[in-house]
Amino acid sequence: MSKSVWMNDLTWEEVAEYLEKDDIVLVPVGSTEQHGPAGPLGLDTYAAIALAEDVAQKAGVLSTPPLWFGDSAHHLGFAGTISLSTETLAAVVKDICRSLARHGFRRILIINGHKSSNLPALLSATRYLHEHELPHVLFAVIDPMYLARGIAARVKETFEHHAGELEISHVWYRFPHLIHPERIPAASVPLEQVLSGFCTRDLLGPNGDTIEVVWNSREQKAFAPTGAFSDASKASPEKGKAYHDYMVDRLVEFISWIRTYGGPVGSAGKRTEV
Ligand SMILES: [Zn+2]
Repeated sequence: MSKSVWMNDLTWEEVAEYLEKDDIVLVPVGSTEQHGPAGPLGLDTYAAIALAEDVAQKAGVLSTPPLWFGDSAHHLGFAGTISLSTETLAAVVKDICRSLARHGFRRILIINGHKSSNLPALLSATRYLHEHELPHVLFAVIDPMYLARGIAARVKETFEHHAGELEISHVWYRFPHLIHPERIPAASVPLEQVLSGFCTRDLLGPNGDTIEVVWNSREQKAFAPTGAFSDASKASPEKGKAYHDYMVDRLVEFISWIRTYGGPVGSAGKRTEV
């Protein structure tokens, strides 16, 4: 196998050669949206890139280039945020997967760095494809919000929400030049006051009974004027490494499992044609 795990660094012949012996591909998806005063606009995409690169190297699989845009309309009050609508993101993801399936990729693992905001588009796109067009392709959507449940409570000290302790730590570990530690806000937005006591205060922790109150970009700019939702003053590259390594190990474990999995009624796992 070639040195790079990124398909965009390879020739078509190298990808064709890979497809002779394997059919797994990672698709990192992120966003270009504000992450408070301390984090870069591409933070979610960098998180997905970091996971995709290390998992691809450890598991010996390929990754597509990252998708730098996600569903970020609620962040449009801040300069530099570029958002795709939910429908556009779903359409783009469908076209990426159709192209991959056409060449023989049969197990497509989407790594989402943007957490809950991208999930509606990613799940509706992949469920649609698997039901109506590509029943022989295995799709999985991987999200730190769910994959890191086993490590989050052991690492973080504060509620984790947008631009929080864990996501700042993650990118600080892997891309240290992109984080501005001196600008990390030390206060959290009192989400229970603006979104009710039923809000999801912690994306990676235990929550009680929750109700999703929808907010828009104007409301967000008013209740979170720095852009950050969470106190990330306890962030550190060391915490980011523990969080990152845990997710990489779990993903490599998942890939080992799907290599042995035939799929329901033989639908995936073997590179059979439609
Ligand atoms: Zn983020």
